[in-house]
Amino acid sequence: LLSKLPDVGTSIFSVMTQLAQENGAINLAQGFPDYDPPRPLLEALARQVLTPGHQQYAPMPGLPSLREAIAAKTARLYGHQPDPATDITVTSGATEALYAVLAAVVRPGDEVLILEPAYDLYGPAVRLQGGIPVYVPLQFPDFRPDWDQVVAALTPRTRLVMINTPHNPTGAILTPADLDTLAALLRNTDTLLLSDEVYEHMVFDGAAHASVTGHPELRERAFVLSSFGKTYHATGWKVGYCIAPARLSAELRRVHQFVTFSVSTPTQYALAEVLPDTTLYDMLPAFYQQKRDLFRELLAPAGFRLLPVQGGYFQVADFSALAPGVSDEDFARRLTTETGVAVVPLSAFYHNRHDQSLIRFCFAKQDATLHAAAERLRQRQ
Ligand code: PMP
Ligand code: GLN
Repeated sequence: LLSKLPDVGTSIFSVMTQLAQENGAINLAQGFPDYDPPRPLLEALARQVLTPGHQQYAPMPGLPSLREAIAAKTARLYGHQPDPATDITVTSGATEALYAVLAAVVRPGDEVLILEPAYDLYGPAVRLQGGIPVYVPLQFPDFRPDWDQVVAALTPRTRLVMINTPHNPTGAILTPADLDTLAALLRNTDTLLLSDEVYEHMVFDGAAHASVTGHPELRERAFVLSSFGKTYHATGWKVGYCIAPARLSAELRRVHQFVTFSVSTPTQYALAEVLPDTTLYDMLPAFYQQKRDLFRELLAPAGFRLLPVQGGYFQVADFSALAPGVSDEDFARRLTTETGVAVVPLSAFYHNRHDQSLIRFCFAKQDATLHAAAERLRQRQ
């Protein structure tokens, strides 16, 4: 069989989780919490599952009540109310939204600008559409975009620019000034924007999330994605959504209807019930900042250089002082099999880069898990 992605193996998240299980390692590799969703959400789902009539296909773009709740939340947080009828589409996780947006807008030969490191599906999903990923490196060590390099990479064939704030894997965030700069660069072009904002509620040190939905110029050309998996510690529920102007949402829906058609009905009812409770997400910045600070403090004596984390739920660490010359893949493997802590090598987020001594830890874990992992990492020395 002639593979469409001959160079792509199994996702690093599956590989490291399996290695963690085989070795009894604490899994700080794949990004998921080891605590449950808020009780009111679980109770809402249990109720909805037992509600007759809530078990068949949901409307293709999402339940109206959930789309209305998303519109209200967006207005409250970012000062712009998308039209629930035309501008919001509920998807099977942000993953489906990413894939469906790319399938909807990228034509063979189109260029798509990706800032690297990048979430692992971006490049392959572009290529599956016949698109050409154009990679622009984020700048070490703070992983900010160099806008001059972005300008240099834009061409009349650039169909789409992909951004991700807060950023996986680095925890960097874009500022309102960054969005202004990007708006100026895209002005007078037909280039679209995909803004992956799945970690929108995890921004630290008093910063506010700069959402593209709050940017009047950029949002006119943008697909903005979020994920209830992140917001409600429910990565296994696989529900996310995309906000885009009606003309762009219509294109997304053309594809979404043939990928999944619609998303789990009782789950949408449950999410629609709890989304108006702002306390459930307003606490997330403090909740995750405490975990970031605890993990960094526990890890301080372990010999890593910890890079700054402004948002998200990942910590990038430089291990070069501990294992000079060792590749990040080898180091991640050894940490999993010998030390009992699974991590992700940062090279997994690059299409072709293996010269950095960087790994990613997920700190979306119970404090006890972070203590146990840090203990193993400290003793390793
Ligand atoms: N984008 C980024 C940056 C992510 O980290 C993730 C989750 N790992 C996704 C998209 C996918 O989100 P979901 O789990 O809702 O499909
Ligand atoms: N987003 C998660 C991460 O970055 C993993 C998602 C997945 O396993 N596909 O670790």
